[in-house]
Amino acid sequence: MLKIENHWFTPSDEVEHIACPKNTQLFDRGQPDTIVIHYTAGKNGISSAHYLAKDNVKASAHLVLDRSGKIIQLVPFNTISWHAGKSSYAERSGFNNFSIGIEIDNAGILEKTGDMYKSWFGKKYTADEVVKATHRNESTERYWHTYTEEQIDTVQLICEKLMDTYPTIKYILGHEEIAPGRKQDPGPAFPLNKLRTILLDSRQESGSDKFANAIGFVDVDGLNIREMPSVNSDTVAEPLPEGTKVRIQAKHNNWYKVTAEIEGWVAADYIAFNE
Ligand SMILES: [Zn+2]
Repeated sequence: MLKIENHWFTPSDEVEHIACPKNTQLFDRGQPDTIVIHYTAGKNGISSAHYLAKDNVKASAHLVLDRSGKIIQLVPFNTISWHAGKSSYAERSGFNNFSIGIEIDNAGILEKTGDMYKSWFGKKYTADEVVKATHRNESTERYWHTYTEEQIDTVQLICEKLMDTYPTIKYILGHEEIAPGRKQDPGPAFPLNKLRTILLDSRQESGSDKFANAIGFVDVDGLNIREMPSVNSDTVAEPLPEGTKVRIQAKHNNWYKVTAEIEGWVAADYIAFNE
């Protein structure tokens, strides 16, 4: 059972923390709105996690997932990590500023040698760990390391938990989509489209309901609470003090209808989640 407390998954048999003190910059208000999926192209999950946590490495990620589905968290979810690099999609660039990065332990592209398949770092894999497929950015088939069922299931659980905790999240993208040509991960062995169908389409059908019942906190020193979602509308009470816990009832443009001691509308920019 995954639980988020103060922007970290609670440690358990399935969750480990590794400190990554180089990442200290918090996301702007309203971010993150995207989850970016990667593969590590490394030897194993724990070695990739330790590498990404190093002070002298100019890369990192929020999460690394090993082959068993175990989660290693490096960076809290309210903090920017360095997983996207030079990236752009739908007229935005620099996706580190908008996204949570999940690195999945997977060797990536493999070369066939005899009966075996070899990774760039020289490890050999048998045919049952290999899929021949065409990448979405390419036109010919190549060999790709498969993901384990545990990894695919756990990625879905992680995304569900993140989207429940951070209602700002509304996109799931592959690194290959925000850095096409430069990056191939997570590649065709990962069921990215299916994940989006399961997680995003069902939520979009319920529209603004995805905000309903989320718990937020006032993130400004005194937040006006109004009768209607407009700055011209009368306030219904004294401004809500910073830290006031509110339950989101509905969203309209850039306003949330919230219940605190009193019900009314507040500017969405000044509500934080999971603090
Ligand atoms: Zn990547």
